[in-house]
Amino acid sequence: MSKEKFAGVKGMNDMLPQDAAIWQTLQSTAVGVLERYGYQEIRTPILENTKVFTRGVGEVTDIVEKEMYSFTDSMNGDQLTLRPECTSAVVRSVNEHSLLYGATQRLWYCGPMFRHERPQRGRYRQFHQLGAEALGMAGPDIDAEMIIMLGRIWKELGVGEVRLELNTLGALSERQAHRDALIKYFEAHKDLLDEDAQRRLYTNPLRILDTKNPDMQDMVNAAPRLLDYLGAESRAFLERMEKLVSAAGISYVINPRLVRGLDYYNHTVFEWITDKLGAQGTICGGGRYDPLIEMLGGRPAPGVGFAMGMERVIELMRECGRVPVRTQTDVYVIHHGGDTQLQAMLLAEAMRDLGVRVIVHPGEASIKSQMKKADASGAAFAVFATEDETAQGLVAVKALREGAGAFAEQTTVPAAEAAAAVAAAVKAGC
Ligand code: ATP
Ligand code: MG
Repeated sequence: MSKEKFAGVKGMNDMLPQDAAIWQTLQSTAVGVLERYGYQEIRTPILENTKVFTRGVGEVTDIVEKEMYSFTDSMNGDQLTLRPECTSAVVRSVNEHSLLYGATQRLWYCGPMFRHERPQRGRYRQFHQLGAEALGMAGPDIDAEMIIMLGRIWKELGVGEVRLELNTLGALSERQAHRDALIKYFEAHKDLLDEDAQRRLYTNPLRILDTKNPDMQDMVNAAPRLLDYLGAESRAFLERMEKLVSAAGISYVINPRLVRGLDYYNHTVFEWITDKLGAQGTICGGGRYDPLIEMLGGRPAPGVGFAMGMERVIELMRECGRVPVRTQTDVYVIHHGGDTQLQAMLLAEAMRDLGVRVIVHPGEASIKSQMKKADASGAAFAVFATEDETAQGLVAVKALREGAGAFAEQTTVPAAEAAAAVAAAVKAGC
């Protein structure tokens, strides 16, 4: 009978064991920084009611238009969506549990997001974001602090220079005036608009500024700039944020065409971009979204957040040679089966009590074949709970790698002392 070998879903990747260390390093480094700024973890379900995203994201974004995995729950007819981003979900949760009543929140999350895009390098249908939301705080100091915090994350990850682009989307009334001017301008250049742009002309003309179409670049570059429509308050907000960011030694460029994919932003928007990853060089995006909490049914409260694409950051870590080397096993225990297997398992437990990572050879095999397995495991030491030794209350220990320090020569030690002796040798070798 020939059995079908299954493949994963297109655009969705397995994280294989050899990549575990780099994923864990990214998360623990980023979270280590987030905690120094007072952020706490929040986890929301991967599925949300579709309207959490259609309300929050606005209707003419790429995500809502064509990227969402939405379906009807066949059990009860509910309209559900695999989360394409987490900000709306976090805000839904914060509103539902009244976390902002008389309080502010600094929250981080990490997990898979789902978008039905054309898979390519750095763009997947299931990908992972690590992000944070600072809720209930209105000032440019919070935006600046978030940017400074991200600068610290890149530094601690050792990924070299990442370019920061900043822009402001101002306030609603300013966007309105700018939007009218934009529509007029684009109408005057209608012959140059591609299909996407034509479709967005009256629904979301700001997004046309974000076009990647090379034929539209010159026209778009000369379009009216929102920066020129800012009132005193929005200008002061931007200036204060720029001042704080600069004072922290972070350089940036103002990119007037930076608008972000999601429509609920106001004031600050930013992206961190690297030249080392080709077309998918944006490793992190974020901004202020003061209208969102109220849009999702909460009491009005301001918010600012970011999300980094973990696959892209990991690729950048690799490009920069920041691949952590981590062994999996400290000790491999070799035995002769029967009673010696029992001795081996007890000894292993005693070593694990002391924090040592131990593999006991599974089943039975010749000593030679077990030695091969011990070598291949990457363990620093082999422990022999073999017949002759265990009969005398002893075990033998041998270092498997040069420079391990102790046990360069195979040495017998009393079984009762073995766990402590091996644990000390492992620790000394770390
Ligand atoms: P893009 O312009 O690349 O489509 P976006 O504006 O849709 O990005 P955001 O919604 O701001 O992206 O998501 C934040 C970050 O998540 C991006 O900067 C990117 O690093 C990452 N990201 C977004 N979509 C994907 C994807 N399909 N695969 C992998 N990473 C992604
Ligand atoms: Mg996108």
